[in-house]
Amino acid sequence: MYNGCMLWLEKKYLSMVVSSLDMAKWKGDTTLNHRCLYCGDSSKNEFKARGYHFVIDQSYIYKCHNCGKSTSSIHFIKDHFPMIHKEYMREWLKEQGVKTRPQKMPSSNEFKFTPKKDIINKSNIMTVDNLKFLMKPCSEVPEAREYLQKREIPEVHYKDLWFTKTPQSLSMLSEKYKDRVLGNDPRIIIPFFSEDNQLIGLSGRAINDSPLRYMTMKFHDDVPLIFNLHKVDKSKTIYVTEGPLDSLFLPNAISVAGSDFSKIGDLKENAILVYDNEPRNTEILKKIDSVIASGFRVCVWNDRRVNDLKDINEMILNGLTSEEIVSIIDDCAFGGLSAKAKFMEYKKV
Ligand SMILES: [Zn+2]
Repeated sequence: MYNGCMLWLEKKYLSMVVSSLDMAKWKGDTTLNHRCLYCGDSSKNEFKARGYHFVIDQSYIYKCHNCGKSTSSIHFIKDHFPMIHKEYMREWLKEQGVKTRPQKMPSSNEFKFTPKKDIINKSNIMTVDNLKFLMKPCSEVPEAREYLQKREIPEVHYKDLWFTKTPQSLSMLSEKYKDRVLGNDPRIIIPFFSEDNQLIGLSGRAINDSPLRYMTMKFHDDVPLIFNLHKVDKSKTIYVTEGPLDSLFLPNAISVAGSDFSKIGDLKENAILVYDNEPRNTEILKKIDSVIASGFRVCVWNDRRVNDLKDINEMILNGLTSEEIVSIIDDCAFGGLSAKAKFMEYKKV
């Protein structure tokens, strides 16, 4: 069956319902904004309009920033304007070259129409599953797989990392980012979940040579972004790395996605902080000094096998195994006065 881009047709039918939508406005060529028909938008403020139609992957998508409803725009039309939806289906079928009897929908036996899988966001909680219209798991995208393979990231993680060619479309995920420029560099998207499994942020690693290597989105200002926090066993040793991708090489590991380790204060007892191995980087040295002072255990790299290898990924690429790296970290983990002493020997400036 012919399956070309039907964007123009979707837009035509959206335009047909515009006059029936409260506060409807086209914003630019491809974004339509109006009061949400699913939630009524706001009972207090009749000027709130938080429903948006926008284009992703050659198709119109609907998303409400109030109730979180997200679905295809065609399904939106079906829900609220069933007669117009029937018209749409007729025209759509005609475009696909399917013959229809006049004024009558063909029975389902005559053709197979597979609508875009619906993305229903029941509880206003974003999960990776209902974001499938924005991103794909890296396991399913050849260029993403290739990037991860080059970095020798264990394949078990590919399905939990996401990929998009159009990060700009992610701006629709949150009111906070709706006017933000996120660009269109292809990126591996690393999702952050809270302990109760809510998606609280994203970090996108460019896989081209974009000068903006990382792009971070944080959906809740009061919840710190800690990668893999929802999966670790807090009763065991937790390895804490700077970069999320580095943490994927270690067991029971999290990442602070940066170098601010103060946000894992309540995990202090079982945590070993693993900074990049950069004994000449004064910024990092300052931070190591300060976390030692606040009572954390830190890996003070001291093993000939990792000399001049600046992070865990580089150690892997140089032939060390995860097991070897874990045993080096365990041997180099110190707290308190011994950490201070080891640190004095370590730093090269
Ligand atoms: Zn709504």
